[in-house]
Amino acid sequence: MASGDGTEYVFELSGGRLCLDYVNTLSGSRAHPTERLNSYRDLVSWGRQAGALGDREAQQLAQAAQRRPEEAARTLAEAVRFREALFRLFAAVASLRAPDQGDMAALNAMLGRALARQRIERRAGGFVWGWIEDGEALERVLWPVARSAADLLVSPDLKRVRQCAGADCDWLFMDMSRNRSRRWCDMKGCGNRAKARRYYERHRAKAPTGAAAGRARRGLV
Ligand SMILES: [Zn+2]
Repeated sequence: MASGDGTEYVFELSGGRLCLDYVNTLSGSRAHPTERLNSYRDLVSWGRQAGALGDREAQQLAQAAQRRPEEAARTLAEAVRFREALFRLFAAVASLRAPDQGDMAALNAMLGRALARQRIERRAGGFVWGWIEDGEALERVLWPVARSAADLLVSPDLKRVRQCAGADCDWLFMDMSRNRSRRWCDMKGCGNRAKARRYYERHRAKAPTGAAAGRARRGLV
């Protein structure tokens, strides 16, 4: 759903799991954040872009939110609290710490509501997990996120969860590299900035040596 004035934010989906892409809807670090979920509409945009919502459901939810603005504002606040609980939980996992019990409780509360809306569907000769469509339940967009978080926590891939090594970036991602050496959320952004910083530091470290060498050549020392 394109917003009427064409200003829909395009979310970066580099986490490798729906739940990590959701955590990454805050740019920068928790110390210097740039919030990307500034309205319920942003939350629906993210859900549609990330595949948590179909186009029709996204449209239904946006319309429901316009009819119930106070509830939409409450849902957005809850969605941001839920995101921060997931961030702390997976940041703890990435640094091999035990997660906070409160954050586990927040996930389990959302997961309980999510699982009540799941169903099995037959598709292409097989069966898949689907969702009971509900264009009126404003927190609907968070249910697949809770399911994704739960699936990741019990998956053998959990040990691949990493936090970006960027100086001002808290993003989480799956390190699927063969030697498990990925350090940045993406090479274009944080990876390049880190490379540029290393270059600058190397250059700066060399400069006095070069000047000293020049003075030595000119017989000044
Ligand atoms: Zn990063």
